[in-house]
Amino acid sequence: MTAPLVRVDGVAKRYAGRDALAALDLVLGAGEILALVGHNGAGKSTLIKLLLGLIRPDAGRITVLGHDPARAGAAEARRAIGFLPETIAFHPNMTGAELLAFYAQLKGAPLAANRELLARVGLADVAGQRVGGYSKGMRQRLGLAQALIGRPRLLLLDEPTTGLDPELRQAFYALLDELAAEGVGILLSSHALAELEHRADRVVVLRQGRKVADGTLTDLRRMAGDPVRILVRMEAPVPVAAGAGGAVTGVAAGAGRRIEIICPAAEKMDRLRAVLSGREPVADIELLHASLDEIYAGLLRRDAEPVG
Ligand code: ATP
Repeated sequence: MTAPLVRVDGVAKRYAGRDALAALDLVLGAGEILALVGHNGAGKSTLIKLLLGLIRPDAGRITVLGHDPARAGAAEARRAIGFLPETIAFHPNMTGAELLAFYAQLKGAPLAANRELLARVGLADVAGQRVGGYSKGMRQRLGLAQALIGRPRLLLLDEPTTGLDPELRQAFYALLDELAAEGVGILLSSHALAELEHRADRVVVLRQGRKVADGTLTDLRRMAGDPVRILVRMEAPVPVAAGAGGAVTGVAAGAGRRIEIICPAAEKMDRLRAVLSGREPVADIELLHASLDEIYAGLLRRDAEPVG
C-alpha cells in the first residue's frame, strides 16, 4: 500500500488555554476527496494551517507528503501542495492571466502551463480581463487555478464553495473529481454536510476541535442510527405536547394536523406508538430518510450529550 499523503496522529493545538484541536487522528490518501465539516470555530482552518506548516501542533505528529510540514527541510513537499484560502483578495486592476503569472513566479513554476490551467478552470476567454470585473464564481475559479499551479499532489481548500450558486458548485466539484481521478488528494472544509452527497469519499465531522465522526456518508448515517423522518397527518387538529418523549423534533405550526418525528429507524414503531396513543385517527403517514443536515445535527447533538 502506498503511504498516505497526509497523516495526523494525536494532534492538539491550544489558543489561550482553549482547545482549537484535540487528539485528532486523520489520514488522507492519493486520489481521495476528504471533507472536513464543522460549525464556525470547530477547528477546520487550524488543521489546514497545521498541514501547511504555518503553525505547529502543541502535541502529536503531522506528516504531509512524507515530511513534517513545519520543518525547514519540508520546502520541497510544500511546493507539492496547492492551497485555496477561505478568502483570497486579488488586485482588481490585474487580469486573470497576470495574476496567475504572478503566483506562478512566487511558486517557481513555469509560466507556460498557465494557459492550460486557465482553460481547465473555464477562464480562458476572460483571462485578459481585469479581475475587478469578475463574478464571485470566476474569482473562485481563479483561486483554484492559483492552487493548481505546479501540479500539486495535495490540495487544501478552505471553504471553497461558500457563496457559489448550485450550478457553479456543481462545476467546481466536477473539477475536483477530475483531479482526484488523476491521483490528487483533496482536503476541503465546509459548513454544510448536505452539499457533499456524492462529492466526498469521506467526511470528518469536527466539533469544538474534536472528531465526532469519520467515514463515508453511509457510515455517518449508520453512526447517527440511520435516522428516519416520519410525517403524520391527523384527521383533525391535535394538541401536541411540547417535547413529547423527546422524539417529536418539530410540529408544523398552523392547523396542528401534522406531526413530525425524527428518530433512529430501529425506534420508529415505538416512537410512533408513544406519540399517537390516544389521539385522533391518522389520515396519512409518510416515511422519509432523514436529510444530511438532520444527520449532521444528530451527530453533533449525540456528541454534546453528557456521558453517564
Ligand atoms: P470557521 O468556519 O469560522 O472558519 P473553523 O472551523 O475554521 O471556523 P478555526 O478557525 O480553526 O475554526 O478556529 C478554531 C478555534 O481556535 C476557535 O475557537 C478560534 O477562535 C480559535 N483560534 C483560531 N486561530 C486562533 C488564533 N490565531 N488565536 C486565538 N484563537 C484562535
